[in-house]
Amino acid sequence: AFREIEHTHKLSSIGRLAAGVAHEINNPLAIINEKAGLMKDLLAREPESPLNERLGKQIGGVLESVARCRTITHRLLGFARRMDVSIEQLDVNDVIRDVLGFLEKEVVKRSVDLRLELSEAAPLIASDRGQLQQVFLNIIGNAFEAIADGGSITIATRTVDDGVSVSVRDNGCGMSQETLSHIFEPFFTTKKGTGTGLGLSITYGIIRKLGGRIDVHSEVGEGTIFTVLLPWGKPETPAPQGDNAHIGYASL
Ligand code: ADP
Ligand code: MG
Repeated sequence: AFREIEHTHKLSSIGRLAAGVAHEINNPLAIINEKAGLMKDLLAREPESPLNERLGKQIGGVLESVARCRTITHRLLGFARRMDVSIEQLDVNDVIRDVLGFLEKEVVKRSVDLRLELSEAAPLIASDRGQLQQVFLNIIGNAFEAIADGGSITIATRTVDDGVSVSVRDNGCGMSQETLSHIFEPFFTTKKGTGTGLGLSITYGIIRKLGGRIDVHSEVGEGTIFTVLLPWGKPETPAPQGDNAHIGYASL
């Protein structure tokens, strides 16, 4: 239990730092973006010059990298802002349906074999809808990214003794032991150039905050199962207030 506490504490200070840095970096980034955009416009007035053409390409590269930085800072700040826990009575099956609605385009585009094994009786808990949507968007989004076209994803909900269990299984690339040992760390990603490595660390923080648990089983080349246990919860439970409550997700 001690190791666990230490881990959470480390993440919370990283979260505080990350949100602060993201905020400070946003303004200079906006300036770089604007100046590089102006340079590109100026160069476009004399496109026939070979030097200008080469400069234009380089500036295009600058603008692309700036856009990527801004995506990261916006995500960090967005998560930090959505910190308030708002507890309501909700049906976990509805949360899964919400998330699949967000991902609908992907499902169609990728011809994914999506199987739902939702519990027949509505699995009701007292929890935070927006934050649970975030959790399952991250986990299901990763499953989509792990499978090849034609791969399958199975999402199951089940009522158990201490709450509602949700499992997301994919038959995608799977993970090595080494990868598995890092997945909940902020900024850990194996998706060079496309991943932020924030999804699962945020997911972990939300689940902890909501009093739940997350488990992973994975085999390289076979696939992965994430299982989330969500406690019944009490509607009157006040939002947890830590010393970092003002910036939000402890686990960023
Ligand atoms: P990102 O998706 O931006 O890389 P995440 O925090 O969501 O960041 O995930 C961290 C890493 O965990 C991923 O880069 C990937 O290596 C691994 N991972 C997560 N989910 C899966 C999955 N379903 N199958 C295989 N690998 C996964
Ligand atoms: Mg992800």
